[in-house]
This record gives sequence, C-alpha cells and structure tokens, in this order.
Amino acid sequence: MKRVRLPLIALAAAGVLALTACAGDGGDAPDETTAPDAEEMTFDEGTTMAELSEAGTITIGTKFDQPLFGLFDPAADAPVGFDVEIGKIIAGKLGIDEGSIEWVETVSANREPFIENGQVDIVVATYTINDDRKQVVSFAGPYYMAGQSILVLADNEDIMSEDDLVGQPVCSVTGSTPAAMLEEIGAEPVLTDTYSNCLEPLRNGQVVAVSTDNVILAGLAAQNEGEFKVVGEPFTEEPYGIGLALEDTDFRMWINDVLEEAYADGSYEEAWNSTAGTVLPYVEPPTPDRY
Ligand code: GLU
Repeated sequence: MKRVRLPLIALAAAGVLALTACAGDGGDAPDETTAPDAEEMTFDEGTTMAELSEAGTITIGTKFDQPLFGLFDPAADAPVGFDVEIGKIIAGKLGIDEGSIEWVETVSANREPFIENGQVDIVVATYTINDDRKQVVSFAGPYYMAGQSILVLADNEDIMSEDDLVGQPVCSVTGSTPAAMLEEIGAEPVLTDTYSNCLEPLRNGQVVAVSTDNVILAGLAAQNEGEFKVVGEPFTEEPYGIGLALEDTDFRMWINDVLEEAYADGSYEEAWNSTAGTVLPYVEPPTPDRY
C-alpha cells in the first residue's frame, strides 16, 4: 500500500470515501483527532487512482461544441457543462484541482480510439454505454439517462416523430448511436463530425432534421433561441457512462463509488443545476451498473 498525500481541499471533498478506503485496509483508519492536513487518502499502489493522484493531473476527453454538457469557453480556456462538472468531481476525489485537469476535445468517433491509445484517462462526453463499445473500452456509470430525439426548424409542421424521418435526409454524427438508429428506421443519414456542424445544413434545407440525444438538441435549441425546436418523444435510451480503459476494473468501480457519493452528498445535483439544469429539469440519476 502506497500512501499519497493530498491537499486539504481534496481531503475535504474526499470525505466518506477516504474513511471507507482506509477502514477497508484493516486498521489503517485515520485518527479522528488528527488535524485535517495530516490526514492521508490511500490508493493501492499500481492502480490508476494512485498513478493519477501522484501525477497530480488527469486528461479528460469531453465535447467542445455541446451547450449544457461540454462547450469550450474561450474566456476560461476550458470547456463548461454538466459532463465537465462530472469530470471535475472525479478529479477532485483524486486530489486534482480543476486547474490541473487537461481537457481534450473528443468527438463522437474518436472516443474509443483516444481511450485505447491512452490519449485520455477518461471520457465524459454524452457517451452512451452499449455492448459494442464495451468490447473495446469500459464504462463507469450510467450517471444520466438521455434518449434520441429530433430537432427541426422552428416553423416546421411536417415532422412530429421518428416515423416522419423515413426516406428523409437527417443530419447526425459519425460514430454515434443516433446515426446507427437513423439507418435502422429508414432515414437517410447525412453524417458529419460534430452536432454543431449539422446546424447549417438544417438552416439551408440540405437536411430536414438533426437527430441525436434530446439533451444535446435542447442545448443547441437554447443556444440559438427561436430558430429550432425539439419535436416528438425520445425514442431510444442513451445511458451516459464514463469511458475508461478496458478491464481497468478497480478504476471503474472506484468511479462508480465517486458517482454514488456525489448523488448522496448533493454535488451531482449541484453540478446539474449550474449547467444543464438552467434549461432542463433535474431527474434522479440512475444507479451505476457494476457489471
Ligand atoms: N449518446 C450518443 C453516443 O454516445 C450520441 C451523442 C454523441 O454522439 O455524443 O453516441
């Protein structure tokens, strides 16, 4: 067991988890009378948690063009949004403050390769957990349940549901689950690399709709007030997970612990309210799937 000393702020944030981890080590629990700055959080040597914590930095892949979830803010020189806040919560539990996080843009198609190549430590990027992806990466979570929906021009009266997309050109993104679903329902997918790149084709009539997760579309509609609207009911389930290296089970389980603690201590709800919650209602988060 290797000890990793953490800054005071991280210890305050670590709370219950640190105590649980120490208690589980057999007699290594911290003395409650010890001054907070003398306390230590321990991670088993060789784990990703120990490595990242010691390095004092983590590389997180997220979206840079999706309002509410991951949108690059030039003033802050960093992305903002709910996924970004989830990334910060995880980093904080490793003793890494937000200024020491390296943010990397991951578009839909490069999330698995970036994890596989070690270009990122984790991906928090409206990333649906599914069996195909689980062949090459692992997922903590889910931490949010989205669903595929439809964005059209505000004055469109013809498209009400996915049935109206059959045989129609609809924009989505390469490597995404909605792109595959469009194919399945008989639409004509017009694919690009990011959802923001679908907006011009929608404006100029090259496509009749954009289709992806409801929460992404809600963000795009809110960013371009009055121009677009989201129609119909979500017609898939998109459980959002945190992507990480395949078979890094310790790290996956630890992130699941972090999520459950964030649900319990209010930090998850706070992260939602300060980002996506400005437009979308809060819903109770799903229980992480400890597969
Ligand atoms: N959640 C879906 C996916 O992971 C669509 C959103 C996205 O492309 O990021 O493919």
